[in-house]
Amino acid sequence: MPEGVMKAWIESSHLSGANAAYFEELYESYLDNSQSVSAEWRTVFEQLPKIEGADVEYRHSEIREEFKQLAKQTQKTVVVSGGSDAKQVKVLQLINSFRFRGHQNANIDPLGLWQRDKVRDLQLSHHDLSENDFDKEFNTGSFANGQETMKLGDLYKALSKTYCGSIGAEYMHMTSTEEKRWIQQRLESVQSKPKLSVEQKEEVLKGLIAADGLEKYLGAKFPGAKRFSLEGGDALIPMLKELITRAGSKGTKEVVFGMAHRGRLNVLVNVMGKNPSKLFDEFGGKHDEILSSGDVKYHQGYSSDFVTPGGNVHLALAFNPSHLEIVNPVVMGSVRARLDRRKCTQGDLVLPVTIHGDSAIAGQGVVQETFNMSQARAFKVGGSIRIVVNNQVGFTTSKPEDTRSGEYCTEIAKMVSAPILHVNGDDPEAVILATQIALDFRSEFKRDVVIDLVCYRRHGHNEADEPSATQPLMYKIIKKHPTPRQLYATQLDNEGSISKAKSDELANYYRKLLDEGQCTVEQWRPMTEHSVDWTPFIGHNWDDDYQKEISVEKLKELAEKISTYPESHPVHGRVKKIYDDRVKMASGEKLLDWGMAENLAYACVVDSGQRVRITGQDSGRGTFFHRHAVLHNQENANLYLPLQNVREGQGPFDVNDSVLSEVSVLAFEYGYTTAEPAGLTIWEAQFGDFANCAQVVFDQFISSGEQKWGRLCGLTMLLPHGYEGQGPEHSSARLERFLQLCADHNMQVCVPSTPAQVFNMLRRQVIRPMRRPLVVMSPKSLLRHPLAVSSLEELSTGVFHNVIGEIDDINPKDVTRVVFCSGKVYYELLEQRRKNELNNVAIIRIEQLYPFPEQELQKELEQYQHVKQFVWCQEEPQNQGAWYCSQHHFRAAIPDGTYLTYAGRKASAAPAVGYMSVHVKEQQALVSDALTVE
Ligand code: AMP
Repeated sequence: MPEGVMKAWIESSHLSGANAAYFEELYESYLDNSQSVSAEWRTVFEQLPKIEGADVEYRHSEIREEFKQLAKQTQKTVVVSGGSDAKQVKVLQLINSFRFRGHQNANIDPLGLWQRDKVRDLQLSHHDLSENDFDKEFNTGSFANGQETMKLGDLYKALSKTYCGSIGAEYMHMTSTEEKRWIQQRLESVQSKPKLSVEQKEEVLKGLIAADGLEKYLGAKFPGAKRFSLEGGDALIPMLKELITRAGSKGTKEVVFGMAHRGRLNVLVNVMGKNPSKLFDEFGGKHDEILSSGDVKYHQGYSSDFVTPGGNVHLALAFNPSHLEIVNPVVMGSVRARLDRRKCTQGDLVLPVTIHGDSAIAGQGVVQETFNMSQARAFKVGGSIRIVVNNQVGFTTSKPEDTRSGEYCTEIAKMVSAPILHVNGDDPEAVILATQIALDFRSEFKRDVVIDLVCYRRHGHNEADEPSATQPLMYKIIKKHPTPRQLYATQLDNEGSISKAKSDELANYYRKLLDEGQCTVEQWRPMTEHSVDWTPFIGHNWDDDYQKEISVEKLKELAEKISTYPESHPVHGRVKKIYDDRVKMASGEKLLDWGMAENLAYACVVDSGQRVRITGQDSGRGTFFHRHAVLHNQENANLYLPLQNVREGQGPFDVNDSVLSEVSVLAFEYGYTTAEPAGLTIWEAQFGDFANCAQVVFDQFISSGEQKWGRLCGLTMLLPHGYEGQGPEHSSARLERFLQLCADHNMQVCVPSTPAQVFNMLRRQVIRPMRRPLVVMSPKSLLRHPLAVSSLEELSTGVFHNVIGEIDDINPKDVTRVVFCSGKVYYELLEQRRKNELNNVAIIRIEQLYPFPEQELQKELEQYQHVKQFVWCQEEPQNQGAWYCSQHHFRAAIPDGTYLTYAGRKASAAPAVGYMSVHVKEQQALVSDALTVE
C-alpha cells in the first residue's frame, strides 16, 4: 500500500497509534488466515487499497513499519509487568469497546425502565480477560486519565465509571480524530464526574428548587390549568443557566432559544426572568391589548439580559406555534442575522440553543433539514446546542418504540458527526458536566452538539390528562419516584456539603419570591445588550407615502456597474450575450428586461448601504436563467458578483443557492428577517408550487406572527407562477392559498407585470418603514416576453403602481367592457385585443391583490362609469387564483347596477392540465371569453 494512502487511512480510522499493536496483530492473523478474524474486520482489510502486482508480504511490512512509527509517537506501547503481549492487545481492545459501546450500558434512565441487554463487548470474557488479571499492570494506551499504566482492575472500574455512569457518550461515529480525542480527554480525565465547588452545587440546587417550586405553585394556584409542566425534567433549569453563564464567560453576547411548550413557562420564569406576577395575570385571563389575536401563554417568547462573569448576555426565547420542531430553523435564521449584524463569521458572539422533545426530534423531518444546513455556507451559525428533554413518552400516549426505529431518539445527529451526550436527568452534576462539554465543543469546533436529557414526565401531557390510563407501569414508578430536587438535596446533605435545613431555607425563599410576584432569577437584568432598534418600523401602514425617485443618471451609473465584469473573467457565451444586452440597457439603447430591472433594484439597495440577502434553490443564476448575479469564470470556475462591486463601503450582497429544502430554508429566512429589519431579504421558490412544502411556515409564522406575537417581518417571497403548459405542478404557486390567509393587512400579495414594477416593488419593500411580508407571484415566460420591458424613466419614478390602467390609445367613451386581470395573462389579452382591434375593451391590471387598492381602482374606473360589463380574467381554474378571494373587492369598485363576470378555466381538482394541446385550447378560450362583448 502506498505510504500516503495507508497513512490517510490509518489517520481516518478510529484505531490510531495507541491501538497499533492490537491492530497489527489482527492484520497479521488475517494475512495468515483470513477466516481467523471477524467478518467485520475481514471487510475492513479487504477494502484496503491494493497495488496491482505487489506482493502481500511487502505491503504488510510497510504497514508494520507505519504502526511502529505511530506507536512511537504515542510513547505508550510498552507492555508492562504481569501482562502478556496478547493480553495487552486485549486490554486496548477493551478500552475501545467502552468508548464505542459504553453508552449502551450507561445508567441514563432515572426510572430504570429502559431494559437493555448487557453489551458483550464490555465484558472481560469477551476479550479473553478475567478478574484474575485485575492485579496485572497494563499500558493504558490513549486512555486519557494521565496514567501510563494501570492495574486492569482499576482500569476496568475507571472505564465503567467514565462510560457507563450517568453519562452515555456517543462520539465514536465522529469522523474527525481530533474531535474524538477531545471528547475522550474531557470524559476520561474526570471519569465523567465534574468537580463542583459548594457554591456551584448550591447554584444547581437552586435551579432544581426553582423548577419544582414554580410547577407546584402553579399547580396549587391554578389547578387543572394547562401549563405543560417540566416536572421530571427539572434539570433543564440549572442546565440552561450553566449554559448561559459559561457562554457569557467566553464572550458570547446573545443566546437565542427555541423550544416547544413542555417546560416553557418554567424556562420563561426561572431562566429568562419573566416576572411571575405577569404569568399569574395571564393565568387569570389578562392579555396584551396591542395584539389583534395574541397567543396562549406557552407559545410566548421573551427577551431579557442575564449577567455573567463575562458581562451581560442578551436572551431571546423565540415565539412559536404548537408545531414541534419548526422553530429550529427560525432560531438559526435569527442567530445568523444577529451574527451578520455583529460581523461575526465564527459564531462566537451568538449562541443558538434548541430544545426538543424525544419523539419530535426523531419524528420531524425538519430536524434533519436543520442538521443538514448547519455547515452550509448560507446557513451556518458556528454550531448549535441541541437539548432533548427526553421524557420517554411520545406525545400523549405513545411508547418510545412506537415513535422511532433507531436505538436512541437522537440518531439523526450522526448525519453531521455531532457528539451526543445522553445524561441521566436525576444526576444534575452529570447534567452540568455534559452541558460544559457541549458548550466547549461548540466553541472549539463550531459544530452542532446534542445533549439528550433522559428524564420523565411527572403528570400527563397536560395537567388535565390522566397518564396512568395509558402508561400504568411507568406511572406506578413515577408516583413513588422522588423529585430531582429531593434526590439532590438528600445527596448534598449526605455528603455534608449543603444541609437539609439550608435546602429548605432556599426553597422557602423561592416560594416567598413567588408570593411577592418578584423576579426569581438573580442574574436577570433589563435589556442593554440588545443590538437593534425596531421602533422606527412600528406603526406603519401599507399605504404610507414612501415614494423615492431615483434619477436616470444614477440608474445608468448603477446599471453600468452591474453589467460589467473584468476582462480576465470569461463567462459562458449565453451569459455574455445577456450581459452584452445589459450594457445596452444601461446606456438607454435598449429597454430593460426583467432580470436587469431586478438586479438594478438590488444595486440600489446595496448602494444605499443596506444588505440584500437572496436565498433559494437556484438563486445565483435564477431558475429560468434570467438573473446571473453570479458569474462563473469558464476557465477556472472562479466567481465574480457584479453586485458585490457596486462601490466601496456598499451594503453586503449575499445570494445563496440553498440546500434542497423549502420548509426549513423559508423558516430560516423568516427567522433572519424577524431579527433584522434593515435591508432586503428574499426567499425564492424554484417553482411556486414548491412553496406548499413550506406551508406550515406561511400558516403559522409569516401570515400571523405580527398578530399573535407582535413580531414584524419584512421577508419577500418570490414564487414563480404562470400557466405555460408545464402541467399541474409547475404552473401555479397557489395564489388562492395566500389570499385566503390575508386579513388585518397582515401581508402583501403582488403580481407585478413589468420590469419597472418589479424594480419599484423591491425598492418599496426596503424604503417604506413598514415591515410586513411580501408574497410575489413572480414570472417565468414574462422574463423574456418582448412586451415585458421598461424604460429607465419608468424605473426612475420610484412608484409601484398597485393598479395599472389602459396603456393603449383607447377612448374611454368607446369602452363597453372592462377586463380586470393580474400577471402574465395581461399580455395575451393585450396582444389579442390589439390583433382584433377591440377598441371598446379596456384592460386594467391589479398588481397588488392584497391589501386591495380599492381607492386606486375606483379612481381608474371613474372614466368607465358608463360601462355595464366588467369581467375578471384569470388563468387559474375557477376554484383557484384570485376569483373567490378577491371578487368582493372588484364588485365593490364597479359602478352600482353593473355586473361582474368570470373568464377563466372551469373549477378543477388539479391546478392545471398535463397536456400542452389542452392547455393551449383552454388558454385561447379564456382570453377570447374575457374580450367578447356580450
Ligand atoms: P430580541 O433581540 O429578539 O430579544 O428582541 C428584543 C426586543 O426587540 C423585543 O423585546 C422587541 O421589543 C423588539 N423586537 C425584536 N424583534 C422584533 C420584531 N420582529 N418586530 C418588532 N419588534 C421586535
